[in-house]
Amino acid sequence: MPHFLLLLSLLISGYSYAEINNKAIANADQDGGWYSYGRTYSEQRFSPERAINDKTVSQLKLDWSLELPTMKSLNATPLVVDGVMYFSGTHSVVIAVNALTGEELWRYDPQSLAALQKNRRQETMMSWGSSRGIAFWKGRIFVGTADGRLIAIDAKSGNKAWSAQTTEIDEPLGITGAPRVFNDTVIIGNGGSEFGPVRGYVTAYDTHTGKQRWRFYIVPGNPADGFENKAMAMAAKTWKGEWWKYGGGGTVWNAITYDPEYNRVYLGTGNGAPWNQKIRSPGGGDNLFLCSIVALDADTGEYVWHYQTNPGETWDYNSAMDIMLADLELDQQPRKVIMHAPKNGFFYIIDREDGKLISAEKFSKVTWAEKIDLETGRPVENPEARYLEEPALVWPSGYGAHNWHAMSYSPDTGLVYIPTQEIPSLFNDDELNLDNWQSTMFRWSVGTNKVMQDFPADVGSSSLQAWDPVTQKAIWQNPLPGAWNGGTLATAGNLVFQGTAEGNLIAYKADNGDELWRFPVGVGISAPPISYSINGKQYISVLAGWGGATYFGLSLFAQHGWEYGVHPRRLLTFSLDGKAELPAAVAPVTSLNYVNDAELIIDDKKAERGKAAFAETCFYCHGYGMVAGGGAPDLRASKMAANKGLFEKIVRGGLLQKRGMPAFSGFTDQQIDDLYWYVRWRARESATALNP
Ligand code: CA
Repeated sequence: MPHFLLLLSLLISGYSYAEINNKAIANADQDGGWYSYGRTYSEQRFSPERAINDKTVSQLKLDWSLELPTMKSLNATPLVVDGVMYFSGTHSVVIAVNALTGEELWRYDPQSLAALQKNRRQETMMSWGSSRGIAFWKGRIFVGTADGRLIAIDAKSGNKAWSAQTTEIDEPLGITGAPRVFNDTVIIGNGGSEFGPVRGYVTAYDTHTGKQRWRFYIVPGNPADGFENKAMAMAAKTWKGEWWKYGGGGTVWNAITYDPEYNRVYLGTGNGAPWNQKIRSPGGGDNLFLCSIVALDADTGEYVWHYQTNPGETWDYNSAMDIMLADLELDQQPRKVIMHAPKNGFFYIIDREDGKLISAEKFSKVTWAEKIDLETGRPVENPEARYLEEPALVWPSGYGAHNWHAMSYSPDTGLVYIPTQEIPSLFNDDELNLDNWQSTMFRWSVGTNKVMQDFPADVGSSSLQAWDPVTQKAIWQNPLPGAWNGGTLATAGNLVFQGTAEGNLIAYKADNGDELWRFPVGVGISAPPISYSINGKQYISVLAGWGGATYFGLSLFAQHGWEYGVHPRRLLTFSLDGKAELPAAVAPVTSLNYVNDAELIIDDKKAERGKAAFAETCFYCHGYGMVAGGGAPDLRASKMAANKGLFEKIVRGGLLQKRGMPAFSGFTDQQIDDLYWYVRWRARESATALNP
């Protein structure tokens, strides 16, 4: 190529899309793209772009938008490579659009809903609509699916290059997280420790062929079968009883970070299966490697070190939240650290070299522990929080003080921007026979009673918090309505962007938290925004489509008026000279039309039984007390649910399977009847409360 052409092509596009590799991802700061889940390997979600800044952001306008009417929850971080934006939507459908115009280029549907139906994994279907992202490597996109496949897609054509089944077909394990890539290797974990006896693991594949390179299990299996490696033999010493019968849990469902400086991957591991340690490991023990960061050699998958945030976890806490890499100056020493804000409410700084704890402080209300002892690295627990004898009201809840919603870090301000929520859980196993407890495959199965009950909408709060990792103190904190707000993006323009559950994309001044700009998008946002530039022009993009939890209808979450099938799903892109207009959307619904036939005589006894059945199965889409919050139809206002014949055809017959409603073929006539009457009873109760 003549020199001037080479220079021109470098100037225009930075790395071309065949070239995205370790070097390109590590050097993404020198280009306008967004090449990997957390932008660079550091996962800091910091954009060096500064045209949109604290002085100019008031001029930020919609540049283009794309309506996505077939989607439900949208939680992904889009990638931008060589002028094309790629993202995964609901059920891991991957879409490529022109990053300048939003024009759709191709769409790949892995048919994951149909795969779940085929494998009779009905109950977990709704839980697995979410996809948090994709990976890009040398002209290929990688995406995981609800039925456990990892798929490589040609970035130009949108055609499948290869597909690997990363889980066993009869395990209740599915993928919602983004794969990560390095050294021609793609790595993926899985989730599902609430749905049966699962044992978590990650698997690494060759990006070219899809052949397995290595696998690492998070918890030990049955000692009688022999251990896979020394790490599992070591971990087995921290378990009691016959833990392998319950799987143990420890799924790596979200955080995996590659560290090019040490050629390691750090895994963020999940909670125990079941949650209740009395069942899983009677008599206690640390239960390695639950709730830990585990460092592995990136080429071999061999164990290097671990740090456990919750020894012997029993609250659905986990360490699956972002694992962010940074160079910090601590006590006048430059340190290579991990920054980590897991569900349990402490902010941890960990040495990347050896996994030793440097500091840990509470970033939210925490009652399960007093502090983390820096000598031992272990929490000083409040013994009552373990609900050994009595039920315990514990902060944070299993929703986490921080969940999967990405945090970001600005090296300019030195602050970490954490989507924070403060919600309690009441832990109680009174009515369970702990000695003979068994997990139920593909069903909500956590070994506690009534733990996910609702609270009044004002029990709990949320905020965007700017945290100084050096002094371990909050610098500013902006309260937000409700809870379950989106991930954050920090930029060199002294800005931090966050989408909210209430449906606004907001820009704050990064150093002091002043709100500078907001844009209503017509529906709640869960996904984190990104920034990129093409031909020297900076853009901000975000997916809007609230969701991303299996149990969604908590009153604190459900108060924003988003209704299933009513409010839009869309991709929005902003610039300083944008001229686009957002299509009109229905305003949040402030009162529902409850279906109440005053003539109908409701059978209270059946309704009472139906309430219990509902709380076991239906709640995690249709909401606590049937307040759905937009994740699924609110049954109190559903005409379909009021028709008994249709109700049976939908719930047991699978009439709405294509829309994602499972077919509960195992329900008896009596269970269907009871559920029907509970829906009628609850609809009347709500209608009467409205018009007494
Ligand atoms: Ca969990």
